[in-house]
Amino acid sequence: MGRTLDKSNAHFRKALTRLPLGVASNFRYWGEDRTIYVKRGRGGRIWDLDDNAYVDYRLGYGPAILGYADPRVDAAARQGMEVGGVFALSTEREYAVAARIAKMVPAAELVRFSNSGTEAVMAALRLARAYTGRSSYVLLEGGYHGLFDAALWTLGVDGWNPGSNTDPPVVPYSRGVPEITRQLLHVAPMNDANRLEDIFRAHAGEIAAMLMEPIQGNCCGITADPAYVKAVRELCDRYGVVLIIDEVKSGFRVARGGVQELMGVRADLCTFAKAMANGYQIAAIGGREDIMRQYGHGVAHGGTYTAHSVALAAAEKTLQIIDETPALETIAAYGRRLQAGMSEILNARGIVHSFAGHPSMGGLFFAETPPTNYRDWKSSDYTFYDTMARHLHDEGVLCEPDSREPWFICEAHDESCLADTLRGFEIAVDRTIA
Ligand code: PLP
Repeated sequence: MGRTLDKSNAHFRKALTRLPLGVASNFRYWGEDRTIYVKRGRGGRIWDLDDNAYVDYRLGYGPAILGYADPRVDAAARQGMEVGGVFALSTEREYAVAARIAKMVPAAELVRFSNSGTEAVMAALRLARAYTGRSSYVLLEGGYHGLFDAALWTLGVDGWNPGSNTDPPVVPYSRGVPEITRQLLHVAPMNDANRLEDIFRAHAGEIAAMLMEPIQGNCCGITADPAYVKAVRELCDRYGVVLIIDEVKSGFRVARGGVQELMGVRADLCTFAKAMANGYQIAAIGGREDIMRQYGHGVAHGGTYTAHSVALAAAEKTLQIIDETPALETIAAYGRRLQAGMSEILNARGIVHSFAGHPSMGGLFFAETPPTNYRDWKSSDYTFYDTMARHLHDEGVLCEPDSREPWFICEAHDESCLADTLRGFEIAVDRTIA
């Protein structure tokens, strides 16, 4: 196709003078010549400053589940604007959204709102600690749960050596994360219930929470075996550990009841964000009544912008659409067709591959079976993917450039998106092989 990024490149140089790395979030920096600035998004596509169009499978890291600028949600958001914003008081709509979440996700008996996934997970961890009177917690390797210090320990930085299963090297993902925050943390590899039990047994009575994302949405959709998830549930019950399932990415996407419905598990606490408002800024913590009622017993929670009237109205409409229409079936069907189309192209070239996650957020691996945990993925050769992704961008298809994220599907991805994607994918694969 041959795309130019002249305007994005020029803007990058200007932006650098006022914004570190020229961007508002580190993850949006793709290098001097490849950082893209978006002009607008509609449906399943975005356009950059140079008017290059892309079929977008990043969807803002998942939120735009119905598609960008969905007219139904935007109309609701405009109504929310009429309400007036934030009042340091509650509005009636909070109940309606909480009730919808509770209907869709039975584990969310009671609900509170937050502004971001990070905030929701922080709140859940605090609740678990307050409820148990314990302090430490377990994270799974490769799990991303937001940008707060307690969670920034399980993603390998460049050059990370997976080391041994029983004594994983635990490195901070960022400079500035105090070493002391590590002292309360235990890290386990996914899909190894024996290892988890060892940790629970060795620290019985100390662990407040197990925080997990059964489909790792920041690790190409690497997926927990449902038997493992069941074992985690049982171990948490046996050792009195609060099971927090982070559904910030999987929630209202992989099923109406999220990954919990998909895998037949019930969390003690769960967190939501992304898909719940089609990109408007809202998150939620849901959970068992006895744990959630800790908010009436001295556990802090709040926030100036919590349950903002615009985001709340957008959430009400988005969740209604997801709950009452076949949007998720449409999304999954597209995801299956996309994967089938990719497989056809790869098989024709004898390229071994597999998919992980769920068709609505699927990871592509160039291996016969997908890795079952982060350490296996980190030790594999994923350079083919990374090279292919760059060629794909040149062909007007946006996936994550470094194979970290699965491919997110929205309801607005249509036949023309599929055709453009597969045409671009074929070219990108051939360029990668060449
Ligand atoms: N938890 C999970 C599973 C996520 O994927 C993310 C973000 O990608 C977060 C938490 C943090 O959410 P936010 O970026 O809204 O703070």
